[in-house]
Amino acid sequence: MNNIKQVLDSLGIDAENSGISTGRNSWPGSGEMIESYSPVDGSMIAKVSSADKCDYDKVIEVSREAFKVWRMVPAPKRGDIVRQMGDQLRNKKQALGILVSYEMGKSLQEGLGEVQEMIDICDFAVGLSRQLYGLSMHSERVQHRMYEQWHPLGIVGIISAFNFPVAVWSWNAMIAWVCGDVSVWKPSEKTPLTAIACQHIIRTVLIENNLPEGISSVVAGGKEVGQFLAEDSRIALLSATGSTRMGKAVGESVAKRLGKSLLELGGNNAIIVSNSADLSIAIPGIVFGAVGTAGQRCTSTRRVIVHEEIYEDLKNALVKAYGQLKIGNPLEDHIHMGPLIDKMAVENYETAIGKIRKEGGRFVVAPKVLSGGIYNSGCYVAPCIAEVDNNYAIVQTETFAPILYLIKYKYLEEAIEIQNAVPQGLSSSIFTLNIREAEMFLSQTGSDCGIANVNIGTSGAEIGGAFGGEKETGGGRESGSDAWKNYMRRQTSTINYSSSLPLAQGIKFEL
Ligand code: NAD
Repeated sequence: MNNIKQVLDSLGIDAENSGISTGRNSWPGSGEMIESYSPVDGSMIAKVSSADKCDYDKVIEVSREAFKVWRMVPAPKRGDIVRQMGDQLRNKKQALGILVSYEMGKSLQEGLGEVQEMIDICDFAVGLSRQLYGLSMHSERVQHRMYEQWHPLGIVGIISAFNFPVAVWSWNAMIAWVCGDVSVWKPSEKTPLTAIACQHIIRTVLIENNLPEGISSVVAGGKEVGQFLAEDSRIALLSATGSTRMGKAVGESVAKRLGKSLLELGGNNAIIVSNSADLSIAIPGIVFGAVGTAGQRCTSTRRVIVHEEIYEDLKNALVKAYGQLKIGNPLEDHIHMGPLIDKMAVENYETAIGKIRKEGGRFVVAPKVLSGGIYNSGCYVAPCIAEVDNNYAIVQTETFAPILYLIKYKYLEEAIEIQNAVPQGLSSSIFTLNIREAEMFLSQTGSDCGIANVNIGTSGAEIGGAFGGEKETGGGRESGSDAWKNYMRRQTSTINYSSSLPLAQGIKFEL
């Protein structure tokens, strides 16, 4: 199924105009028209209309009604609905994977991998639907019982980034749904079609089960639609994934109304390579981390901090590996790297290159904007490597492109200090066969990131763990472990089954 028209048809996308959808109903929005271009070949794939404030308010009202019904469905039954959604995603995996790859520009393997991640989170959520446990505690008062329970929150708003156009939404939505919440999704304006495709898949399940509209909604649009969600006190939780700039704006708006937000923002991820590292695994780990998804993962490897004894060897090995990379149409087999998302991303790459040079960086693999022939969309660049100091302003910033920095170290303490000396705190890793080094890296004096790996690169994560990072990465955690607690409200209840009224802390109050 490589014809894109066929793919759109099989996913139920109206290429001329779709945009707003709440469960079973969809309509073109009244806001601006978004044209979705593929960075692969520059063609316009389809047009999607965005939501204006009236569309948005209509969606929220429908969601509120849906919540009243959905929260009454027992959690394991909600899990069964999510199981069916997972089955539908399995049926559509190939088509959706192709669309993700074509609209976003990642390799087909990664597009399919993204859909697999959605299926995996469905499975996780199904199990979770029977495990939304609260603790019971021993009361200090006689014949009293104390326990906590978890209730659904309400409407969960989801703002997502272009680079994982569908997986990040599913991490939020599937968990929110088993928790009894309803969701309103504002996808990236750069990848609206994959969102419409997902909504069609979910809608089929809602209709088959005669469930209300508004359990799942999509409002297409740009940042102004994101701001509708941020400022709206009807949104019980806003989960926002994107740049730190976006997170600061959204976080401030949500905080002003004392709402809940879950922020998943930019990273500046480093790999430490010790002199005891097994380079046969470190090198592919670094290269995949740096050039996979054309360096447009929040967990992409940006910095490699290398022990001085092996610095030259590792550098030469990386230069050799980069020489073998194939850049081209990501839908074709054996292509390692596709395009950047758009021409603006290419401009950002060029600006960063200029700054690296200005600050004194030396390129060991040269940067280049690729043009002509298969690179006609104007979105293709060559991955590059520069030797730098960690304190350069450009190295302190996340550039969403395949630019890798090499930094030398002598002592592990120094390497950890360098790794932590950036404003972001998402993913980190060390390649070492020395258990003391590994444990030091993982200790409280080690990596300050939300993700710390040993002998695995920084890039990519399994859905079973809680995903997210510290500092300017926003502090949020989503996906696995107990991240579900973000999507529910905790209630502590104490029940007195005695015939007296003892007060806590032994306080006496007599009438
Ligand atoms: P972006 O910040 O430009 O946009 C992300 C989303 O936020 C889009 O839907 C956009 O419309 C919306 N948005 C932007 N400004 C907004 C505002 N002021 N108010 C409300 N909504 C707003 O990011 P992007 O270019 O799409 O994605 C790349 C960034 O996302 C990188 O920084 C990357 O590290 C980060 N990211 C982080 C994670 C994570 O889990 N930590 C995952 C994926 C991507």
